[in-house]
Amino acid sequence: MVVVLDTVNAPPARPRHPEKARRPDAPLLPKPAWIRVKTSVSKGFGETHGVVREHGLHTVCEEAGCPNIGECWAKKHATFMIMGDVCTRACAFCNVKTGLPSPLDPAEPARVAEASFRLGLAHIVVTSVDRDDLADGGAAHFAAVIAAIRAGLPESTIEVLTPDFLRKPGAVATVAAARPDVFNHNLETVPSLYLTVRPGARYFHSLRLLQQVKDIDPSMFTKSGIMLGLGETRNEVLQVMDDLRSAEVDFLTIGQYLQPTRKHHPVARYVPPEEFASYESIAYAKGFLMVSSSPLTRSSHHAGEDFQRLKAARDGRR
Ligand code: SF4
Repeated sequence: MVVVLDTVNAPPARPRHPEKARRPDAPLLPKPAWIRVKTSVSKGFGETHGVVREHGLHTVCEEAGCPNIGECWAKKHATFMIMGDVCTRACAFCNVKTGLPSPLDPAEPARVAEASFRLGLAHIVVTSVDRDDLADGGAAHFAAVIAAIRAGLPESTIEVLTPDFLRKPGAVATVAAARPDVFNHNLETVPSLYLTVRPGARYFHSLRLLQQVKDIDPSMFTKSGIMLGLGETRNEVLQVMDDLRSAEVDFLTIGQYLQPTRKHHPVARYVPPEEFASYESIAYAKGFLMVSSSPLTRSSHHAGEDFQRLKAARDGRR
């Protein structure tokens, strides 16, 4: 039997962000020289791409349109995005598809471990879409992925970058009990912008999540990040630093927000590199063990090297 695909009358492909389709186009600010990166396709890039595809995995590197993908994938550093590629939230900054996700794949944890082995990763970073549709927000699945990596690569270290598990009691404790080496949860922006930039989230809930991880296990490294250029003020950024230190967060990342499409939140400003450097000095003065602050800083950029520096910084303070 021959199956004929009707490409003329077939319904159009579903947009990545249906909830944003009716928004007016936001103006695009021209990018300054310091933000432009060349995405060269290297041998390592091809191999990373092959391993990711072969194992049927998603990466935030691709889904978020990360500007560092050429550099990271050349070195076979990919950040896995588990629980599908469809998110139940609709943050105004994010390029990940929104909609109703598929059921969880119980074989995914083993595939993440296998792909990590194939890539030769010593420090494995795992993030996910938001899964508000699940009773535990996907916490048990995170724990299963951590367990599978520990079983397959006992020498490796593991960093999780989790959603906020809003209204999912016990979820943070479930992930923390699986004992990742680093527990990251990004605040993303300053509280005054939550309503427009991160409408499904609550600033103080995210802050409490980070404090909760420290309360559960004071030895676990905690990490959080924000983006600049969304419309925040300098004083607000400094206040976020103080809030994160109050929650005993160890590691702060600060990077430039890049607008994925015209339907996303506009870039209010491209923050110059020297301003990032100034925030880095201030953050160290406020007591963070590690700070990464530059236009192209992303949560998982150089995560392995930064983890080694983080450990050394703690050891140096003891
Ligand atoms: S910075 Fe992180 S998200 Fe971006 S390409 Fe590198 S590993 Fe992937």
